[in-house]
Amino acid sequence: MENASNSNQKTDSLGILTKYASTPDIKGLAELAVRRTAKYSLQEEAKKLLPTERVRFCLRHRVDATKGIEVKYNQKREQAHYSNVQRCGSVWTCPICSAQISEGRRQELKQAMEYWQGLNGAQEVGGIVLLLTLTNPHHHGDNLEQQLGGQKKALKYFWSDRKPKEMFKALGKVGHITATEVTYGKNGWHPHYHILLFFKGAINTKELRDFIATVWQNCCEKAGLKIPSIEHGCDLREGKYADKYVSKWGLADEVTKGHIKKGKEDSVTPWDLLKQSEAGCEKSGYLFQVFAQAFKGKRQLNWSNGLKKLLKVDEVTDDELATETDKDSLQVDILDMELWRLILIYKCRAEYLTAKEHDIKFGSKRAENLIMELAERYTKDYVHEMMKNADLHHVRAQALAI
Ligand SMILES: [Zn+2]
Repeated sequence: MENASNSNQKTDSLGILTKYASTPDIKGLAELAVRRTAKYSLQEEAKKLLPTERVRFCLRHRVDATKGIEVKYNQKREQAHYSNVQRCGSVWTCPICSAQISEGRRQELKQAMEYWQGLNGAQEVGGIVLLLTLTNPHHHGDNLEQQLGGQKKALKYFWSDRKPKEMFKALGKVGHITATEVTYGKNGWHPHYHILLFFKGAINTKELRDFIATVWQNCCEKAGLKIPSIEHGCDLREGKYADKYVSKWGLADEVTKGHIKKGKEDSVTPWDLLKQSEAGCEKSGYLFQVFAQAFKGKRQLNWSNGLKKLLKVDEVTDDELATETDKDSLQVDILDMELWRLILIYKCRAEYLTAKEHDIKFGSKRAENLIMELAERYTKDYVHEMMKNADLHHVRAQALAI
C-alpha cells in the first residue's frame, strides 16, 4: 500500500511532519492497534498474578511525581508512547518491556552475526557461527528452580572443564552467546539453552556434535541432573539455522500472537500460559507464577567475556532499551492525573495511544472523544455506586429501626 510517489506530506500544529499515503495502510494500523491492546491487556494479567513485582507499576506510576503523564510521538516509527512513567524492564514477565528490550537485543545479535560472517563488509574473511541446543530429560512434576540450578552448574562445567576447553580452543572458537528459554508441555517444564558459537574457520559439525554430546552427558551427571541420551541431549546446526534463529528471536509478535501455537511436543511458552490465564485458566496462571519466580533476576542472553567488544556491539542496558523510543520523539500531550486515572480505571492505555496516533495522522479528535466518553462513563458509574450505597444506608437504617 505504501507508495512514496503517492504520499502526501503536511506539518500539523505541533510541527510534526506527517506523511500519509493517499491510501493509508489500514491493515498495518489495525495490526499495530490489536498487538498493542493485547500487550497492555496481558500486562494487566501479569500485574494480577504478580501483585508484589515491579510489573504492577509499569507504565502506570510516574517517574517525576510533580509532572503529568507525557504523551510522545516518535516520527520515525509513526507511533505514540507514554513518558514520565515507570517501566519495569522485566524481559520475563512484562509483555510490553519484553517486546521492546527483545527487539533491541535481537538487533544486537543480528549485527554481531553479520559482522562475524563478513556480511556487512567490515571483515574480509567471514567467520562461522553454529547453533547449539543443550537440554536434558525432564518429567512432569520436576521442580523448575532445581532444574535451572542444575543446568547452570552443568553449563559451567561445559565451559570450564579441561577437555571441552582445549577442543574449543583448537577449533578456533572466539566466543559464544547463550539464550535461556523454557516451555511447558506434557512432560512438565522444559528449560533449555540455545547457544551461538563463533568460530574463526570451517568446522566439521557432525564430529563436533558427537564430541559435545558426550561432554554434555558428563556435565549433566556431575551437576546431578538426569543424564541425556547421546541423540537427544544436544543438537548442533550450521550457519543458516543460526541466522534463522536470530531473525526470529524474541519477536514482539511472539508475545501477542493471536492463537496458541502448538509446538512440536505440544508445548507452550510462558506468554502462552499468560494468555491462557487471561482466558480464565487458573492452572496456567499458577504455572506463570512459578515461572516468574524461577526466572526472576536471570539473564535472557549471556555473551561470553570480550565477545561484544570483538564484534563491535555497544553495551546497552535493558533500561536504556526500554526507553530508547524517547529519542526522536516529540511531546504531543500532557495528561494530568485525573485524566490518567480515568484511562487506568477503564484499562484504556492502549486505546488512548492508538487514538492519538490517528489524530496526528488524520487530524481527527479521537483522543479527546475517548477522554470525554470515559468521563461520562465514570460519572454514570459514580452515581450508580452512590445510589447503591444510599440503598444500603436505607436498608441498614430500616434494619436498625426494627
Ligand atoms: Zn514493564
